[in-house]
Amino acid sequence: MSEYSLALIPGDGIGVDVVAAALVPLEAVADKHGFSVRHTSFDWSCARFLETGAMMPDDGLEQLSLHDAVLLGAVGWPAQVPDSVSLHGLLLPIRKGFDQYVNMRPHLLLPGITGPLRKSEFDILVIRENTEGEYSGAGGRVHQGTQNEVAVETAIFTRAAVERILRYGFEQARSRSGRLASVTKSNAQKHTMVFWDDVTDELAAEYPDVTVTRYHIDAIAARFVTHPETLDVVVASNLFGDILSDIGAAIQGGLGFAASANINPDGGFPSMFEPVHGSAPDIAGQGIANPIATIWSVSQMLQHLGERDAAADLLRALGTVTATPARLTPDCGGSGTTDTVAAQVAAAL
Ligand code: ATP
Ligand code: MG
Repeated sequence: MSEYSLALIPGDGIGVDVVAAALVPLEAVADKHGFSVRHTSFDWSCARFLETGAMMPDDGLEQLSLHDAVLLGAVGWPAQVPDSVSLHGLLLPIRKGFDQYVNMRPHLLLPGITGPLRKSEFDILVIRENTEGEYSGAGGRVHQGTQNEVAVETAIFTRAAVERILRYGFEQARSRSGRLASVTKSNAQKHTMVFWDDVTDELAAEYPDVTVTRYHIDAIAARFVTHPETLDVVVASNLFGDILSDIGAAIQGGLGFAASANINPDGGFPSMFEPVHGSAPDIAGQGIANPIATIWSVSQMLQHLGERDAAADLLRALGTVTATPARLTPDCGGSGTTDTVAAQVAAAL
């Protein structure tokens, strides 16, 4: 029997509630599919920062590296700790340190959910470059505070990083519909984005079975709303992927449904799975946070660990529960709680 070792970072606010809840269906699906999951919980959070001055210990990455995967709830408590501290003290070091260069977000309407477009079908997989590009942090300001002030932000695109994220996109497209949308703004940005297009064309020759369509970010953003059925796998840079996956999250029913995976495909380091939402201080501690995004992230984790049947079964169980929206949490108009929703998903297994 396979046994997986999981590092839990519940974090702050509703992160604590949704991670605890997600363990219930995880155990159920593991029992059913004949594997087991051992987990170790780490109290790394803004609360820890306020006590010790650090979001996580110096050897945090070493500790995590002993596990097969990381499940994170949410970190952030903006009333007491600036977001830059929680981001740069925990999330970014893990993503960077473990070279989790793929950020993968499934945007799919679960049964019973219609979203703001009032559609019954929406299924787009956004693959976002997670290490460089527009978020490289290169740049600065000169002549500060004067009329001549200038701010520069340099987007850095390396062949190695562009090639590996596009390759991941091609592979995903191959495993789904065979359609890949590659996103740039190469009509306006003539260096980085033309480079991205060039690498896309080079790789396209290696994947004759995949149909690639290039879109500009503005056009594809509109297409998400008007013709989403024409899209399947969408691969984009750090900034453009960030924007598109927020549009996708809105269309699939909101933050309570948006799951994400930070993947190191080479397997040298653990990958990290987390709901897209934050700590939601306004509803923290009330037991009403929607656990679906986190349970869905657990499904992504199982897929990554190679437990494909269990991953699909867990997603199916989620759909069984969402088919009756009255059972969901208040953000979906239901009267359920974090724990009752998680228990129903476990029961649906
Ligand atoms: P962060 O800065 O960590 O991204 P944020 O303040 O931007 O956090 P979120 O915590 O992501 O925002 O959430 C925004 C709002 O959406 C919350 O205040 C909450 O009302 C709602 N929300 C987010 N996640 C959930 C959830 N899982 N269940 C119910 N409501 C949620
Ligand atoms: Mg936010």
